[in-house]
Amino acid sequence: MNVASRMSYQGSSVSPSSDTLRDAVSPPPGTAAKRRVLIVEDEASIRELVRLHLALDGFDVTEVGDGGRALELARGTRFDLIVLDVMLPGIDGISLCRALRTDGANTNASILMLTARDTESDKVLGLESGADDYLAKPFGMRELLARVGAVLRRASRAADSTDGATAHQLRARDLVLDADRRGLVVRGSRVELTKQEFDLLYLLAARPGIVFSREALLAKIWGGDTYVTERTVDTVVSRLRRKIERDAQDPELILTAWGVGYKFVDAD
Ligand code: CA
Repeated sequence: MNVASRMSYQGSSVSPSSDTLRDAVSPPPGTAAKRRVLIVEDEASIRELVRLHLALDGFDVTEVGDGGRALELARGTRFDLIVLDVMLPGIDGISLCRALRTDGANTNASILMLTARDTESDKVLGLESGADDYLAKPFGMRELLARVGAVLRRASRAADSTDGATAHQLRARDLVLDADRRGLVVRGSRVELTKQEFDLLYLLAARPGIVFSREALLAKIWGGDTYVTERTVDTVVSRLRRKIERDAQDPELILTAWGVGYKFVDAD
């Protein structure tokens, strides 16, 4: 009850229907289709608040209270956004997130994780599992809507940047990156990447030998989102290395520029 009352209190300080929040989350004019969100949360009071505020903001909301049912639903139905609690009965949120990223209709959906614990390791775990962002409980509805707006903007920017390129293939060493399909082939095998992993890899591989600072990567990939830190860049790079390097501990493609950031290995 404490969590719920604090959340409703925080939410009431700024009405979810205010112009500011509408701008943060609502689709631009002319975007008719309602965006679909799946809320996975076992605490009914929190689920209800999140459902209410996202519905007010124009989302088509589906809600479930356990991980197994969520997985079942998400295998076949594509959602624009999944709000996913970490501590769930059945399948926990981290395992569920990994499963969603592996196959089914939501490998590229935006995923916002909710957790009761606000420690760095939880945050890293959430992002490592393929979540796009993370929100610690207790949170206000205003913060939730701001985060939702941010992850969806990033997703739509990523889609726009690839829509603009026509049949754009980038070959770099062992990799073939397909900007149209957001696909990656590594040494002949297709590898699934999240939006952020793809964008980061594409940015680096398109400019071999050029060092990007963590700050620059944050600005380019996350668009100055104030909720992510430079540590996030390291997390996404280590995830990428596990997917593309022969030996993630001894990378040959994405190299560390000590104290600065990262670069893709120089062209031959
Ligand atoms: Ca829970």
